[in-house]
Amino acid sequence: AEVQAPAAILRFAIPKASLLARATGRGFSRFSAGDLLGIVPDGSPVPRFYSLASGYSDGFVEICVSRHSGGLCSGQLLDLVPGDSAQGFIRRNPDFRTAHNTKPVILIGAGTGIGPLAGFARANRRRREMHLYFGARHPDSDLFYGEELRDWRADGRLASVTTAFSRTGARAYVQDALRADTARIAHLISEGAQILVCGGRDMAAGVADALADILAPAGLTPALLKAEGRYVEDAY
Ligand SMILES: Cc1cc2nc3c(=O)[nH]c(=O)nc-3n(C[C@H](O)[C@H](O)[C@H](O)COP(=O)(O)OP(=O)(O)OC[C@H]3O[C@@H](n4cnc5c(N)ncnc54)[C@H](O)[C@@H]3O)c2cc1C
Repeated sequence: AEVQAPAAILRFAIPKASLLARATGRGFSRFSAGDLLGIVPDGSPVPRFYSLASGYSDGFVEICVSRHSGGLCSGQLLDLVPGDSAQGFIRRNPDFRTAHNTKPVILIGAGTGIGPLAGFARANRRRREMHLYFGARHPDSDLFYGEELRDWRADGRLASVTTAFSRTGARAYVQDALRADTARIAHLISEGAQILVCGGRDMAAGVADALADILAPAGLTPALLKAEGRYVEDAY
């Protein structure tokens, strides 16, 4: 159907790290949600990057991949079947992390951008206040982590989950959900909340526009929050 966005969550076993890698904390011996998995596809020397949806302590390497039309690497990844393996490496992305404090966190993403945001929620064992805004096309095509999101909402890892669907009758994007929640978001930011955005560049631009309007009455801008490390993006 037209709403189908061929995409999948892929979960790999963590490869055994060499002694040197373990001693130096490099490679697969240490990684966090929000770091990048580099994959060099067959037929091209250029690595493609995928945002990690898991950390080392989860015990697996997880990514969320959507198929690009004619895409080499995404095609090869989505053609894998259980038991297959892929060659990859870790690239650290230390800026895309939840801040080391107890302030609230606002996670915003669409499509495969949910990957690292799900990783942050899964790792939220201390039940810090975390709100997720997630845009997808249709609940039947790309509402990734639907079951986990319900579990994390129930056990307090997520304080709220707000979805926006662009190809249902609602025709809403994630930035529309932000605008509808202006008062709550403005309040969270006044409490010192950090904002993490992940997904396509167009989505990130739409989110930045919505946040600019939400922040303006308080005399704040996305640029100011970015300068303070309170607004970080992983956009591709
Ligand atoms: C920081 C970051 C995070 C990302 N996270 C995700 C994610 O979580 N999930 C996800 O689905 N995607 C993610 N992407 C996109 C992903 O990296 C790929 O771009 C996407 O999967 C398409 O790759 P492809 O090989 O299927 O498509 P292709 O069309 O084969 O290649 C994509 C791009 O690779 C380059 N390229 C291809 N071949 C060559 C060549 N021979 N020489 C030079 N350049 C070449 C081109 O710029 C091309 O546009 C992320 C990208 C970035 C930069």
